[in-house]
Amino acid sequence: VFQLSVPLNFLGSVYRELRQSLLDMETLFNLQKVNVSIQQKPDAKPLQLTKGGEIRFENVTFGYYKDRPILRNLTVTIPAGKKIAVVGPSGCGKSTLLRLLFRSYDAQSGRILIDDQDVRDVTLDSLRRAIGVVPQDTPLFNDTVEHNIHYGNLDAGIDEVHEAARRAHIHDRIESWPHGYATKVGERGLMISGGEKQRLAVSRLILKDPPLLFFDEATSALDTHTEQALMANINEILRDKARTSVFVAHRLRTIYDADLIIVLREGSVVETGTHRELMEGGGLYRDLWTAQEMGLNDEGEVIEEVEGK
Ligand code: ATP
Repeated sequence: VFQLSVPLNFLGSVYRELRQSLLDMETLFNLQKVNVSIQQKPDAKPLQLTKGGEIRFENVTFGYYKDRPILRNLTVTIPAGKKIAVVGPSGCGKSTLLRLLFRSYDAQSGRILIDDQDVRDVTLDSLRRAIGVVPQDTPLFNDTVEHNIHYGNLDAGIDEVHEAARRAHIHDRIESWPHGYATKVGERGLMISGGEKQRLAVSRLILKDPPLLFFDEATSALDTHTEQALMANINEILRDKARTSVFVAHRLRTIYDADLIIVLREGSVVETGTHRELMEGGGLYRDLWTAQEMGLNDEGEVIEEVEGK
């Protein structure tokens, strides 16, 4: 019995470590909503961005449950190298579009193409490397701040990690934490705010430097001021290099300068155009904009005081 207890203790610690990494994986998978049943084809080829990242949804129908379609025969083209916004009432399927593109799920019918390649025909690794996401709720590993940023590109040096944090305007804040970059964050670490988490996600993204960028705006995690500061950072990053960037937005004020705004309702595209065109068109976008300017939510309830313009 005595002889056995040492290896068993050892096994106990291996088990704890294993469990920890599984938990971390679980957090990541939940966040990115990666569905493990998605399979790569045996003859899958790496994604080639031959046109600079044009995304096309062709007659896409999808529902999380068989008889409840969320996207209905949706067709839309997201031009390469532009800033695009996807807007629409809550629950209309904005985030779902993103999950299909990332292949967290596959469409029931129709196709999704990136530079004319069906996302189901390319390797999952090349697809997910090409796409950077700032999700609504950033998953943090139970690890140091440094690792949490470094994860965006493990080949990068520590100087690059710090530079990315600087560009996301979080470096000074990190330095003020008890152990600087060695501070542990995540569920078992330092409690940090939603805004700080998102800045860490932006740092991670800067380090990853993906050709396709998605920003899934949190409904209510950030106050307007933090949101605007973060958008300013992202716009600054985008200026450096042409890349396809898609903003899933709730607050229309954060995206009114987009090159193209796609308006969804109940899983279909109802309007597309620039802010000016859509305002002139007088459809759903103008209604949503007017309601938000009056401080109302989609259901017409008062949500916030309107700030001075
Ligand atoms: P919001 O503006 O509120 O973030 P959204 O337009 O991004 O909403 P989605 O998150 O795409 O909407 O969700 C569309 C619909 O699909 C909603 O009715 C939602 O309840 C449902 N849904 C989302 N994720 C799942 C899931 N994993 N399983 C089942 N239903 C889901």
